[in-house]
Amino acid sequence: MRRQITNSAASAPNGKSGLNMIEFLNVSKAYTSDTFALQNISLSIAAGELVFLAGPSGAGKSTFLKLIAGLERPSKGAVKFNGQDISQLKNSSLPYLRRRIGFISQEHGLLLDRTILANVMLPMIVVGAPAAEAETRAMAAIERVNLAGREQALPLELSGGEQQRAAIARAIVNRPEIILADEPTAFLDRDNAQLILNTLKAFQSAGVTCIISSHDEQLFDQSCRMIFLSHGSITNTWQSSIQSSIAASA
Ligand code: ADP
Repeated sequence: MRRQITNSAASAPNGKSGLNMIEFLNVSKAYTSDTFALQNISLSIAAGELVFLAGPSGAGKSTFLKLIAGLERPSKGAVKFNGQDISQLKNSSLPYLRRRIGFISQEHGLLLDRTILANVMLPMIVVGAPAAEAETRAMAAIERVNLAGREQALPLELSGGEQQRAAIARAIVNRPEIILADEPTAFLDRDNAQLILNTLKAFQSAGVTCIISSHDEQLFDQSCRMIFLSHGSITNTWQSSIQSSIAASA
């Protein structure tokens, strides 16, 4: 079955809650006056969806994820999170938004002089959780990414794949509603990359919305929704086994 999804309404049926968690309404982002990192993007992502965001370096993937996390604001249009226009949020409200989001980037960003346990506890400590509760939750998060037994290791004692799994534990310890993973496998070999993807998919299976970007589209199987970006525009989308082509306007 072939189904056309237009750039103005690429919302996906998800078979879960059906609620749109993320909406981009004619969103453009320009960092400089003459070049657009994203151009006129309109789409919806439903609660509980797993979305792969593919495209070459410079396509706008990081910008897309940063707009959802409130790390950047759109130059035009609106980005909504559970119906709220986050492009209009005051700076003072952004920390509350970010607590609902687990952000994972290419570099693990772990504090090298602290143990894995201390790193994973940190987001809870920052929001004022009691240390005992933070430790219990961090231990559970570490177990979920299959790093049980490595709690007292320092980040540099872990392999690249293990460091990235520790970063995932840190991102999910506050039980975010959505995980945004920006090229989480960029520095990993294929086996470790697959392990990271499987770890993220397990969270999605447990109900957490996940958006994962990569320049390497071969990494993604086609069982999930895929959005292809090029030069800041959506050029193609896949929904399960359904391919929907959008004529690249670029
Ligand atoms: P990707 O994640 O797909 O590599 P990015 O979103 O990082 O793409 O970048 C999209 C475009 O925006 C690129 O041309 C990049 O150079 C530009 N860009 C990204 N961040 C900035 C910034 N902070 N200042 C200026 N230009 C930027």
